[in-house]
Amino acid sequence: MRRSCSQPVAGKTAQVRNPQSAFAKASADKSAIRNPQSVTVGVLAVQGAVEKHVQMLERCGVRVIPVRFPAELDEVQGLVIPGGESTTVGKLMARYGLDAKIIERAKEGMPIFGTCTGMILLAKKIVDSDQHRLGLMDATVLRNAFGRQIDSFESDLDIECIGPPAFRAVFIRAPYAVEANSSTRVLARCEDKIVLLRQEGILACAFHPELTEDRRVHEYFIRMVTESLAKQGSRG
Ligand code: GLN
Repeated sequence: MRRSCSQPVAGKTAQVRNPQSAFAKASADKSAIRNPQSVTVGVLAVQGAVEKHVQMLERCGVRVIPVRFPAELDEVQGLVIPGGESTTVGKLMARYGLDAKIIERAKEGMPIFGTCTGMILLAKKIVDSDQHRLGLMDATVLRNAFGRQIDSFESDLDIECIGPPAFRAVFIRAPYAVEANSSTRVLARCEDKIVLLRQEGILACAFHPELTEDRRVHEYFIRMVTESLAKQGSRG
């Protein structure tokens, strides 16, 4: 199913082959690390859509490791939390002690990118749910907010921070944020609902950017990682 959430760009298809490269911008920015191979990004690998994120990040040129144990979080400079089933991922994170370590690394400044289930787990509040979560982002999310699996859809989103053209976003039993506080920046909406947001080093989206050819949202996150490393380096 296709839903229209923003003005689609003329001639736009699901495959954006030549999106504007975030690295082009990043390399123009003196505070960013120029060499993406020097960056290691972890993908939380306890359940869910892990492999597609690994492939996407590798295409972006960074080193990637699947994260299953807390100690592996010391080897990464950024972390992706993929889509899946948020109650399961929450329980598994707690069982393996990953939650406490992720929170510790986030407090040290490690950027985290949560997609779908990841967005749910990052939020401080989840409507009508007391499920286990990381609670690192000042936002309230509603699970399965666009409907059930059968209501999965694609939509073209205007996302200013990655620039044109519109981003083809795949929503699968997706949440959205019903509320974000003033320190949280809304980066994209779909049908007026908040589907991409950022609070400092925390980035969360309701859709699945790993399921398209378009690297721009992942590149945006990698830029957050390189910028945070540059900041830490300039402090040290
Ligand atoms: N509905 C799922 C949940 O609540 C999220 C779906 C997804 O990650 N694609 O965890």
